[in-house]
Amino acid sequence: MSFVPNDSKPQKCKGCSKTVYPNEAIKAIDAYWHKVCLKCTTCQTTLNLKTVDSFNKEPYCRTHLPKASHTQVADSVATVQATSMSRVHTRARTSTSR
Ligand SMILES: [Zn+2]
Ligand SMILES: [Zn+2]
Repeated sequence: MSFVPNDSKPQKCKGCSKTVYPNEAIKAIDAYWHKVCLKCTTCQTTLNLKTVDSFNKEPYCRTHLPKASHTQVADSVATVQATSMSRVHTRARTSTSR
């Protein structure tokens, strides 16, 4: 029988940004992780699919999972638009009379 691999392309680990192969990857929080890279953001405890919780796409253990009751407001990036000096568009009319 022929074994057809389905989507066995190596992925990038979200924890260390290195290649992670499917046989050693954990898929959590819409990303792939090495088993050792899936850690709580707060206490660095190694997590697995049973113990991981996520908040804002970051992995947390049950203990340090932030409470989602209060909404975090992402600070808006203020783009300072430099007002360019208004260019005076002068059209010089040159009347050449001979
Ligand atoms: Zn990794
Ligand atoms: Zn933790």
